[in-house]
Amino acid sequence: MNTTPLRVLIHGASGRMGQALLRLAAESTASWQVVAAVTRRPPAQRVVDGVPHFAASELGGVPDFDVAIDFSLPEGFDPVLALCTARGRALVSGTTGLEPAQRQALEAASRQVPLLWASNFSVGVAVLNELVERAALALPGWDCDIVESHHVHKKDAPSGTALTLGDSAARGGAQPRYASLRAGDIVGEHLVQFAGQGERIELVHRAMNRDIFARGALQAASRLAGREPGLYTMRGLLFDANWIAAVGRVADLAAGVPFGGFA
Ligand code: NAD
Repeated sequence: MNTTPLRVLIHGASGRMGQALLRLAAESTASWQVVAAVTRRPPAQRVVDGVPHFAASELGGVPDFDVAIDFSLPEGFDPVLALCTARGRALVSGTTGLEPAQRQALEAASRQVPLLWASNFSVGVAVLNELVERAALALPGWDCDIVESHHVHKKDAPSGTALTLGDSAARGGAQPRYASLRAGDIVGEHLVQFAGQGERIELVHRAMNRDIFARGALQAASRLAGREPGLYTMRGLLFDANWIAAVGRVADLAAGVPFGGFA
C-alpha cells in the first residue's frame, strides 16, 4: 500500500470550495499534502498553516505536484489546464460555467494527461442523475423541468449540475427546461420535476454544506493521479462494484473508463 501522501495543488484556494479543500486535506495529512495553494491575488501570507501560497501570476513557479484540484472561475481555468499539461500532471476540476472552447481544450488535453471535470462531486447527485434518466425513459411525453437554487454569489446559471441533470433527462428522451433561483446562502438545491396528466414526480437533492463536494474532489484526486491520460468520470472513479450493481449501469460506470463527454 502506498503510504506517501499525494502532493496536491489547490487552485482557487481562497474561495468557498478552496477553503473547504484546504481544511479537509489538513485533517488527513497521511493522504494529502497540499504543496501549493493558488489564489487570484497575491497572498497576504506566503505560508499559512504550513501550506505555501502563490498568486495566480506565479503559477509557472509552483513546486512539483501529483494532481491539481481546481475550483476557481472560468477565467482561471485555462492557466491551470496548461500547467497540468506542461508538467504531465493530473487535473480534477469542478469549475462551472466553462465556455465550449474550454471544454474542447479539456478534451484535447486529455490525450496527454488524466483529467476529470464534474459539475458536481457529491454521491447523491450522481445517484440523482441515474434516477432522472430512468424516470425520463419511463415517462415519455411528460414535461421535465429542472429548478436549481444557489447562493446569491453564484455567477453561472443554470448551474453546471442542472445542465448535467438535463443531459441525463435528455438521454432518457425528455426535453428539459430550466429555472434558476439565487437567494441567501443556499449551498445548492436541484429539483427535477416530471409532470403528466393529473400527476407529478419530484426528485430533489439538497446540499447541506460544501464538504460533500470537497471530499468527493479529494477522493477523485487520489484515484486519478498516476492514471493513463484520458477524460475520466467522477462516477467511474468514485463508486465501488456494489454501488454500480445497485444502480444498474455497470457498463457506463466501470471504474477508470475514459469517456468522451462530461459527467
Ligand atoms: P468562490 O467565488 O468562492 O471562489 C472562486 C475562487 O477562484 C476564488 O478563490 C478566486 O480568487 C479564484 N479565482 C478567480 N479567478 C481566478 C483566476 N483567474 N486565477 C486563479 N484563481 C481565480 O467560488 P466557489 O463557491 O468556491 O466555487 C468555485 C467554482 O466551483 C465555481 O465555478 C462553482 O460553480 C464551482 N463549484 C463546483 C462544485 C462541484 O461539485 N463541481 C461545487 C461547488 C462549486
